[in-house]
Amino acid sequence: MEVTNCKACGNLFNYTSGPRLCPNCMKKLEKKFAITKDYIRENPHANINTVAKECKVSIPQIKKWIREERLSFSQESGIGLECDNCGKMIRTGRFCAECKAKMINNLDNAYEKPKPVVQKKKEKEKERMRYLDK
Ligand SMILES: [Zn+2]
Ligand SMILES: [Zn+2]
Repeated sequence: MEVTNCKACGNLFNYTSGPRLCPNCMKKLEKKFAITKDYIRENPHANINTVAKECKVSIPQIKKWIREERLSFSQESGIGLECDNCGKMIRTGRFCAECKAKMINNLDNAYEKPKPVVQKKKEKEKERMRYLDK
């Protein structure tokens, strides 16, 4: 066990794994996520600035949730992210459908190459998010 400062409030807490947030701030973040999700469901046409303001969540945080595919938006909302590969507007996740399909096709050619370090780091982050979801 490790004692560390919470990234959000600065309080000391016993750190085990996952994001460096104290149990209190983790709870607050999950609450905000629930509020944001409800707000988007009830206001499918709200843009990202409105959502951020109404739910008191930062835009980067909302985008993070979209990247993690925890939040998604309707076609009409106009809220979207750029595909990490081609820059096309997408609603959720990291890549557009075309790039996803291309990646699956390329998998056979790519498996011999060593995985870049960045990729590994992202996978680790995914594991951490899984922990958050519990
Ligand atoms: Zn905290
Ligand atoms: Zn794309």
